[in-house]
Amino acid sequence: MTSSTQIQLTSRPVGTPTSENFSTVSIDLPALGPDEVRVRNEFVSVDPYMRGRMNDTKSYVPPFGLDETMTGGAVGRVVESTSDTLPVGTAVLHGYGWRDVAQAPAAQFSALPETGLSLSVFLGAAGMTGLTAYVGLKRIAGLAEGESVFISGAAGAVGSIAGQVARKLGASRVIGSAGSAEKVAVLREKYGYDDAFNYKDAPVREQLRGLTPDGIDVYFDNVGGDHLEAALDRLNTGGRVALCGAISQYNDTQRAPGPDNLSNLVTRSLRLEGFTVGQHQDLQAEFAEKMTGWLHDGSVVFDETVVDGIGNAVDAFLDMMNGANTGKMLVRI
Ligand code: NDP
Repeated sequence: MTSSTQIQLTSRPVGTPTSENFSTVSIDLPALGPDEVRVRNEFVSVDPYMRGRMNDTKSYVPPFGLDETMTGGAVGRVVESTSDTLPVGTAVLHGYGWRDVAQAPAAQFSALPETGLSLSVFLGAAGMTGLTAYVGLKRIAGLAEGESVFISGAAGAVGSIAGQVARKLGASRVIGSAGSAEKVAVLREKYGYDDAFNYKDAPVREQLRGLTPDGIDVYFDNVGGDHLEAALDRLNTGGRVALCGAISQYNDTQRAPGPDNLSNLVTRSLRLEGFTVGQHQDLQAEFAEKMTGWLHDGSVVFDETVVDGIGNAVDAFLDMMNGANTGKMLVRI
């Protein structure tokens, strides 16, 4: 009998989640049925959207059930199989995260190519988060050569790739914001940002104005709130905003007021468009080919902040929401 260590949501957080909202359980796995696989996870992803799934509210993904094992992105290798398509040893991407061993019908798992890169890149730069950066800049904002871009949450999983993708798409100037001096240095020195600021140092409005004397053409929003308001001040006529996330508000217990300068949308012919990456899977193949090439030739770099052990997955999630990560936050099993 094999057992699986799994993390369950035991109560719905009000405001900022704590470890009290979760429990760790050990589940005995039954023998495999026909066309099933058992997978030893190597990396499990913790992502901001999971905070929304902890609330009992309807959204584009259903809420996590109470006293049920949570789900999320994971990569691993097949260790036992009754499937012809996924033999033992196959590397797979799937949605059974928050556990060390996953078991389900083979159809729920996607085989990954052997690229010579760590499997973890399929949860980060070459996976959902990298695709998010690509979709937001290319399709939603329609970033054109010679345009200037501001990206918030710039040192995180999506933001660190977004800055580099913006450059690949021909951006003339790329500005980022993040929550520490160390992250700001990484933006300038490693991810190719022309300039960057720590949003905790002074009002975002002031800092962004100082760094964008000629305005901005595109804003990639990971944060919402004061960042969105500041960007609306700086957008040039015809500017576009890709609304990717609003992490500054995910733990709010009351509705936050909207930006005080929405009239700029009218006077400057601005366009704001939200998106979820799942709606843009048609760009996955194009993106994967480009990104794998960029990662191999070293023209795109990425960071991972790795926490060891499924027992530390909750801390990894809480720390990511608090800014402990540079690049993608991952749990290594
Ligand atoms: P990150 O790797 O960026 O991790 C989250 C980061 O958010 C933290 O490291 C922290 O960095 C920052 N943060 C936390 N609180 C605040 C705050 N109050 N103000 C500003 N920054 C804050 O996560 P992801 O890259 O996975 O996700 C980034 C954003 O993209 C999120 O909003 C997420 O929901 C969204 N997203 C949207 C998708 C879509 O399909 N639309 C898909 C994937 C992600 P710091 O130290 O800088 O504060």
